[in-house]
Amino acid sequence: SKRIAGIISARGSNSSHVAILARAMGIPAVMGASNVSLGWMDQCEVIADGYQGRIYVQPPAIVKTEYSRLIKEESLLKKELRGLRNLPAETSDGFKVALMVNSGLLADEAISHSETEDGVGLYRTEFLFMVRESFPSESEQQEMYHKILKAYAPMSVNIRTIDVGGDKPLPYLPVAEDNPSLGWRGIRVALDHPDILVTQIKALLKASLGLNNMNIMFPMLSNLDELDEAQALYENALYEVKLKHPDIATPKVGVMIEVPSAMLLAESFAKRVDFLSIGSNDLTQYLLAVDRNNPRVAKLYDTLNPAVLRGIKLVVDAGVKQAKPVCVCGEMAGDPIAALLLVAMGVGSLSMANSNIARVKWVI
Ligand code: PEP
Ligand code: MG
Repeated sequence: SKRIAGIISARGSNSSHVAILARAMGIPAVMGASNVSLGWMDQCEVIADGYQGRIYVQPPAIVKTEYSRLIKEESLLKKELRGLRNLPAETSDGFKVALMVNSGLLADEAISHSETEDGVGLYRTEFLFMVRESFPSESEQQEMYHKILKAYAPMSVNIRTIDVGGDKPLPYLPVAEDNPSLGWRGIRVALDHPDILVTQIKALLKASLGLNNMNIMFPMLSNLDELDEAQALYENALYEVKLKHPDIATPKVGVMIEVPSAMLLAESFAKRVDFLSIGSNDLTQYLLAVDRNNPRVAKLYDTLNPAVLRGIKLVVDAGVKQAKPVCVCGEMAGDPIAALLLVAMGVGSLSMANSNIARVKWVI
């Protein structure tokens, strides 16, 4: 990441996975610059403003001066934020908020400059699968997961089981669909290939031996039957692993709430699991019928749309009613303004890109 000053992509939008990765690495990115020819910028001086989603090619001196000023301001702010490092994220009326990180890059890289003291709210395992040419074996997975868990221990890590399909295709599991976001993705793939899920869960359980800091969560559930099936597979895997390792800690199990049907059924889900995690990226996409990757409709992709906020409130209330913790782990959790709204709604834990933690702590 030291060699890349910025990213400009003709495709995608603010909550695309490339944008999420760029944010995790603290690299400014402008997505969906579909109306300019990127080749034409070759050898040109370019400003990429990731906050505004703007690019300037061969900017005039006055623009350059203004951006130099902004860069200085930004580094001063960063210094000020560093002063908050050892302070808790607590509102003036004493509401404490856990600020966790989203991770999924290689552990060693992420942990070295991690700002969290509350652990990992979302570990996306699919990238470990995507960067390879075939499915990793159980022991290979165990080794990868152990590294991650160990890097953050004793803080807890919410590991999400494999969530491929849709905008996260797996090169060695090709599927051609007209409507991939509504197609074979997330838990649907895993339940159709139980071997993939069981292997992963066994590897996770074994990886957590001696560390006991792991929670597991399932992505993209749209009905309770899927949860029953996933839980049955999980119980089997746990039973088998416990035969050999009886002292293994039983992880907490949670679900992602990121499909409108799951949002409406949040209380029923909350009854059956240990925690809920709101995936606002997909929840926004599905509630508003706006493709999270399509720059043409990016203006309509609004996580602050009252429908999205009401949906989130519904889930938060369901969690309160069932005394189950609710976390928000979509990109909105790392947006300081949105984070305030979430905290006001009673969300007690937010999980975000490491680079956003200090800013969110500052507003709280
Ligand atoms: C989400 O949908 O908000 C989420 C956290 O998962 P992902 O972005 O990986 O789909
Ligand atoms: Mg999602």
